[in-house]
Amino acid sequence: MRCAVSIDLDPIACYYRIHGLGPAPGELMHSILERALPRAAALFAERGLHVTWFVVGRDVDVDAVLPDREARKANAARLRALHEAGDELGNHSYSHPYELARLAPGEIDAEIASCDRVLRAITSQPTRGFRAPGYDVSPAMMDSLAARSYRYDSSIFPAPGYYLAKAAVMAALVAVRRPSGAVMTNPRALTAPGEPYRPAMTAPWRRGQAPLVELPIAVTPTLRLPAIGTSLLVAPAFARDRILAGMARREFFNFELHGIDFADADRDGIPGELVARQPDLRLPIDEKLERLSRILDGLARTRDFATLAEIATTTQRDQ
Ligand SMILES: [Zn+2]
Repeated sequence: MRCAVSIDLDPIACYYRIHGLGPAPGELMHSILERALPRAAALFAERGLHVTWFVVGRDVDVDAVLPDREARKANAARLRALHEAGDELGNHSYSHPYELARLAPGEIDAEIASCDRVLRAITSQPTRGFRAPGYDVSPAMMDSLAARSYRYDSSIFPAPGYYLAKAAVMAALVAVRRPSGAVMTNPRALTAPGEPYRPAMTAPWRRGQAPLVELPIAVTPTLRLPAIGTSLLVAPAFARDRILAGMARREFFNFELHGIDFADADRDGIPGELVARQPDLRLPIDEKLERLSRILDGLARTRDFATLAEIATTTQRDQ
């Protein structure tokens, strides 16, 4: 059995947008890459794990006409070092628009192309994989990925519980006239297979003949409970154990984390307005690292770790 760990490097501004909090404080613009990423990288390095980092292109674009070029340069250097040490860098769009799946095909392609350009500048190699902001895929995205010879998409998250929780949060924010910047995920994705599959280009949530494969984010069999970092971190121990026990029946565990899972509200100066809305930020970093270490060590007893690009290669061969 296998496991791939991936980390979506969404900047703090994304969480301000989700919770309808307006623009994030400027000094937090790069804190995920500057402060959380090194903690995550150290945890994986201790275990000799090679992981996949999903990068928001703009944060590491050294050619962009933006004020904080030095910070972007340092971010790009951090990611280059991880790539050179054997990690994979994946495309998480250029500016992380939550509505990406609903934009015009040309705009979707531009978001994917711009991140692709930035990653190519860092790695000097073709990028293999993509994850959409907000887990929402569309046929136009598949067209853009196939045209660039990507091997996989890993955006589908077939977790009804997550979908319902997101709908409830968005409705609550509308009620207080502070609408969320998030966009509701296409519910068709909830019926998608839970194991890697070859999708249809025109309906990526179904099986078909696409040249790339879909690597769905981990949900348990039967109940389809989300087995992602943020939910496992905040779950009570019995629930965490139950989700992990359920995952033991899956051949492949696509373990998704976020950069914010490695943030520390106190040490990183994250304001109370965000901490109040993100339960994971109420856990100190040492506690989170301890919980993640236990999860990773448990997984290592029964599974071999690989990057998503490596998983995609074997899936391509078998499907
Ligand atoms: Zn994201």
